Amino acid sequence: TNAPLYSPARVRELLTRHGLKPTKSLGQNFLIDGNILRAIAEAGGAAPGVPVLEIGPGLGVLTREIHSRGAQVTTLEKDERLRAVLAETLGDTDVQIIWGDALDFDYATLPAGTRVIANLPYYITGLLLSRFMRAPGIVSATVLVQKEVGQRLAAKPGTDNYGFLSAIAALYGSVRHVRDVPKGAFLPAPDVTSSVIRLDFDRDRPAPEPEFLKFIEAALHHRRKTLRNNLRMIGHDGDAIDAALAALNIRADVRAEDVALGDLRDMAVKLGVIR
Ligand code: SAM
Repeated sequence: TNAPLYSPARVRELLTRHGLKPTKSLGQNFLIDGNILRAIAEAGGAAPGVPVLEIGPGLGVLTREIHSRGAQVTTLEKDERLRAVLAETLGDTDVQIIWGDALDFDYATLPAGTRVIANLPYYITGLLLSRFMRAPGIVSATVLVQKEVGQRLAAKPGTDNYGFLSAIAALYGSVRHVRDVPKGAFLPAPDVTSSVIRLDFDRDRPAPEPEFLKFIEAALHHRRKTLRNNLRMIGHDGDAIDAALAALNIRADVRAEDVALGDLRDMAVKLGVIR
């Protein structure tokens, strides 16, 4: 047919002809909306010569959209049942497909200036985002995530959705909400609304110390509890915490979610976690 690759009719036809049933446990919700596909590729910075890494090509629909803009695309797919479909939809391109689990991939090998663009498998969003942040070559990640995760990523301290994810995103760079994506843009439709989020990583900043990352993870673990309580839980001495809080002019009963990143860094220094 002449219908575009992303049309529901083509997507259904591809699935049927290749004997595929979308697997829920692999987060397989395929995009069937041309406007959304274009918006993701555009916001992600797909342009001639730009190295792009995609996670989970699925039927290759978003991959093709990114590739059509001249980007140099590498894509990681775990589900080997998709080999025949991808041979059909990407066979005439120079897209490099790497078969395997995205959690086993070594992101440190990616060239400088790499942009991640992906409709992520939602069950590993957090893990993947933290891998992207730590890979020095990756300068941005434009990803479809559950709307709620997008809100957490973009949240500021002292607001409802603030937590570890918000803190590390701010630590590495900035977050922009590109647009919401309704359930109906996918086949099958997921249970929740999604959002396209773009994270930009500022690679001129020194990489955060692993000890500091662990410290903020613990500090924000129970974000509604007090900072003092969370730090006690990872073994810091109560008197030392009180002295540090007082020295920094932070209220002794401050809740973890209300503490700015700069204050967390100062606390970590005072408590001897980092220098
Ligand atoms: N990009 C396609 C689209 O937008 O229509 C598919 C997106 S679908 C939400 C997620 C994709 O990630 C699926 O193709 C799934 O097989 C793949 N996937 C799931 N878990 C994976 C993993 N651990 N490593 C690599 N790919 C994975």
